[in-house]
Amino acid sequence: MLGELGEEAKVLAGGQSLIPLMKLRLARPSALVDLNHIPRTAYIETQNGHVRIGAMTRHADIEDSPAAACIPILHDCAAGIADAQVRNMGTIGGSVAEADPHGDWAPVLMALGAEVECIGPGGARTVPVSQFIKDAFSTVLGPADLVREIRVPNAGPRSAGAYVAFKRCAPVYPTASAAVEVKMLDDDFCQDAKVVLGSVGLTPVVVAEAASALRGQAITPHAIRRAAEAAMSAADPQADLRGSVEYKRLLVGVLTERALLAALARARGERVEVAHEYAGR
Ligand SMILES: Cc1cc2nc3c(=O)[nH]c(=O)nc-3n(C[C@H](O)[C@H](O)[C@H](O)COP(=O)(O)OP(=O)(O)OC[C@H]3O[C@@H](n4cnc5c(N)ncnc54)[C@H](O)[C@@H]3O)c2cc1C
Repeated sequence: MLGELGEEAKVLAGGQSLIPLMKLRLARPSALVDLNHIPRTAYIETQNGHVRIGAMTRHADIEDSPAAACIPILHDCAAGIADAQVRNMGTIGGSVAEADPHGDWAPVLMALGAEVECIGPGGARTVPVSQFIKDAFSTVLGPADLVREIRVPNAGPRSAGAYVAFKRCAPVYPTASAAVEVKMLDDDFCQDAKVVLGSVGLTPVVVAEAASALRGQAITPHAIRRAAEAAMSAADPQADLRGSVEYKRLLVGVLTERALLAALARARGERVEVAHEYAGR
């Protein structure tokens, strides 16, 4: 249908980004193709630690899934998006396809090394999330392409992640966020790490220097501080109603440190609850 309707047609998933844009007349699609009635598009399947999430899976279903219980960074993200109404309708496929610089899923999926399976007239292809998102609100999808599935690889033993986002109140996008994934050799020694920031660039910011500050190192307060400082330097925030550039940089440092501490504790086998941070709490 997308091929027949042409470039001005859009697919409708949860409608939590597209419908508000249409109400504001910022989007005026010539036709909507509703994905909600296509069977087998909403699922979460786990096999040998790999997780496959259908594009039409709602944030709320991921929040409550056994997969999110095993990979708590998925829960950190899904449980904090907006409010229950948005989480009950919004989908992970719609979120990555929208490529909103303030979206919660993209930094988390990049920290996890996830891939997007796309389908279209040219067949199916699998693209790492880091390459799928080209720019703000821009992806590799062609006009007749769809996101079919998100694939999260098995991170292996002694691996864990955490995601912390700061929001002014529940149903708004983050001011800044940090997704961290660590792989430990033992309780103290880090084998590998990924730090990805959200809302402080046109696309999620991968902080290579923060990973270098942790990789192959004994994890001390000094190493954590160096990683947080690297994140502050790598952030490229814009001043807006959420705060100044300086404020957002400071926030990035705090969020990176909190996410790192939670990820490290989880990698040691501790049960750590992580929730989004809200102003004034
Ligand atoms: C009040 C409010 C607060 C919000 N706060 C947050 C927040 O804090 N964090 C956050 O991450 N998000 C937030 N959102 C957005 C929410 O997460 C959306 O669910 C998400 O951005 C888009 O998913 P959707 O399923 O609703 O997509 P839709 O709105 O239906 O579609 C979005 C775009 O993606 C395209 N699309 C959808 N599915 C596919 C697919 N499978 N393949 C190809 N293209 C597709 C559509 O054509 C459209 O262009 C908020 C939304 C609202 C209304």
